[in-house]
Amino acid sequence: MKYAVTSRGDEVSNSLCDKIKKYLNEFGLTYDKDQPDIVITVGGDGTLLHAFHHYKHCLETTAFVGIHTGHLGFYADWKPEEVEKLVIHISKTPYQIVEYPLLEVIVRHYDDESPERFLALNECTVKTLEGSLVCNVEIKGDTFETFRGDGLCISTPSGSTAYNKALGGAILHPSLASIQISEMASINNRVYRTVGSPLVLPQHHTCLLKPLNDVDMRITIDHLSLVHKQVKTIQCRVAEEKIRFARFRPFPFWKRVKESFVGE
Ligand code: NAP
Ligand code: MN
Repeated sequence: MKYAVTSRGDEVSNSLCDKIKKYLNEFGLTYDKDQPDIVITVGGDGTLLHAFHHYKHCLETTAFVGIHTGHLGFYADWKPEEVEKLVIHISKTPYQIVEYPLLEVIVRHYDDESPERFLALNECTVKTLEGSLVCNVEIKGDTFETFRGDGLCISTPSGSTAYNKALGGAILHPSLASIQISEMASINNRVYRTVGSPLVLPQHHTCLLKPLNDVDMRITIDHLSLVHKQVKTIQCRVAEEKIRFARFRPFPFWKRVKESFVGE
């Protein structure tokens, strides 16, 4: 079996990475940073997000597992002191795989450039460079509302505990193949009106955002932030692809939510 290890880059994470490599090589596994069967991330969720984007070309064959070194570790749910146990598990395969839904984002431009396609593990956010975002929100081909406010966040179920949570969105179990749209400070008065509640869309229901005044936008995909010029539409839906996590022990989603946000 081929593996790769990625680090957050700090000393603690780097030395843990070296230790993991040493162990796994001793166990007869092959280090292959291009086409690994398993990617072990050391750092936090940010490190796992980076690894996901680095390996998005081989999601079908690659599984992820994360260790957290002094970070929240919602995805990266193994502790540094468990690393020996983890490497033994990995080398003894087969292990269980759980799949989580991803968000597909397609950005289309006025200048007829070919559309750009992105996959997000956590979310996509849409803002303008200055002033309020004004955009038409279409759901399944029908106009739903005209949004005015700071921006919109479209999240995956596993991303619902990240930015979406700070916006008052619900926490969704990753077995629900869905996306959640949450508002950032919408303007609501006699003149402007939005629904005001987060919306959860099932698979195959597409959300289409059409900017109405400013067409230069700041669009984030997880930790990546890009300025897009002349944006015609931003299309969001549940992706065909999924992320695969390697599971070596039961650690139910709600238990992770409790430990991360309520306390142990
Ligand atoms: P960051 O600023 O270090 O991340 C913010 C925090 O979110 C970190 O504690 C991170 O955990 C945690 N996190 C990431 N994904 C999570 C998830 N699915 N569930 C629960 N917590 C999660 O930046 P980053 O590490 O590069 O992560 C990028 C993410 O930050 C974005 O995808 C977005 O969700 C989030 N973010 C949140 C807010 C907000 O809550 N107001 C604003 C901007 C961005 P680690 O410490 O383990 O990395
Ligand atoms: Mn982080």
